[in-house]
Amino acid sequence: MELSSERPMGTSLQNDKPIYLDYNATTPVDPQVFHAMEPYFKEFFGNPASAAHQWGWIAENAVTKARGQVAALIGAKPMEIFFTSGATEANNWAIFGLLSKIREENPTEPIHFITSNVEHSSIMKAMAAVEKMGVEVDFLPVNSFGLVEIETLRKAIKPHTKLMSFIWVNNEIGSINPMGEIAKIAKENKIYLHTDATQAAGKIPMNVTELGIDLMSFSGHKIYGPKGVGALYIRSKDPKVQINPLLHGGGQERGLRSGSLNVPGIVGMGMAAEICQKTMTEECHRLQGLRDLFWEKLQEKIPGVRLNGSPTERASNLLNITLPNYKTEALLPRLQKLGVSTGSACGTGATVVSHVLRAIGLSVDDVQCSLRLSLGRWSTEDEVLRAVAILKNSLQR
Ligand code: PMP
Repeated sequence: MELSSERPMGTSLQNDKPIYLDYNATTPVDPQVFHAMEPYFKEFFGNPASAAHQWGWIAENAVTKARGQVAALIGAKPMEIFFTSGATEANNWAIFGLLSKIREENPTEPIHFITSNVEHSSIMKAMAAVEKMGVEVDFLPVNSFGLVEIETLRKAIKPHTKLMSFIWVNNEIGSINPMGEIAKIAKENKIYLHTDATQAAGKIPMNVTELGIDLMSFSGHKIYGPKGVGALYIRSKDPKVQINPLLHGGGQERGLRSGSLNVPGIVGMGMAAEICQKTMTEECHRLQGLRDLFWEKLQEKIPGVRLNGSPTERASNLLNITLPNYKTEALLPRLQKLGVSTGSACGTGATVVSHVLRAIGLSVDDVQCSLRLSLGRWSTEDEVLRAVAILKNSLQR
């Protein structure tokens, strides 16, 4: 499959146009994805649950095709893919759904879950919520690269540990957890393994069946599909994983996730998955080249710049850097031409400092001097070079 020659609006190449460097926050919808979705807003608007007429059958067929495309990307069977509204829902569903099932079967049994302290907030907060419901939760510290240490994990396991949940590729620093080793430990100890693979699916090759992952969350809008659609993979064999629904209602998704399906979104996620599957190897290679050039030029132009995360085990599209002594929130007005993400953000009057950067040992000051630069399908060498120049100028003023 060829990558689309069409460039999404908003990623213009003109010299004076802003440069999007926030592909980890969200990706533009690939024009091929958009074209695939369009008919499902227009003539093929049916509800897949309408089994009595052709509008319903057409929608149902489209969802079936997308389920196959999404399953193929991760090495799963189509019946193991359950569409959700995104990775936030999938993460919450995995945790609360499993807890509800365990409690249903044995209401008095003590329950222990293990996660890490560099997870996305949808895991951190869901885990904090189950903790309030009486589950014992360990948030494991990570090493200075942001990776779960196998020895730390082994030591944390208890006789009543039921679930481990670890982010596969970190959204802020790009560190890639050793998921194969983690899965082996989970299997040896008969503990369910969930992974938040929102930044991993479509970026690194994976086969969840072979790897031994039990539950996996991912999202459409990080793989050049639309927002508002994602999926939870639920293993069907060796072992068959059973979780309770989070959403009750019409019984869609084989009774496990009620609500009329977002057909255009699902079609888009399916198409996005197919494009990723076919272009991933080449694209990763290209992005790695751009990322390395970016880092090389940054070091050349900005003395003292530091790289956060693992130098080796990391995503091909991302640089998280610290510009010592330059508060990035204060630089933002001078970085209007760059779409970047900072290590701390001012929310409702309070500054929220990245828990991930803190967890890998950065001081609050250094977190406030950090930037995440994430590249993607429409990033170019020219953009990288211009971005370095803009960054350098912003520091000189
Ligand atoms: N997990 C990770 C690692 C993410 O990067 C994100 C998106 N920022 C999410 C979960 C949430 O995904 P969604 O927007 O699909 O709910």
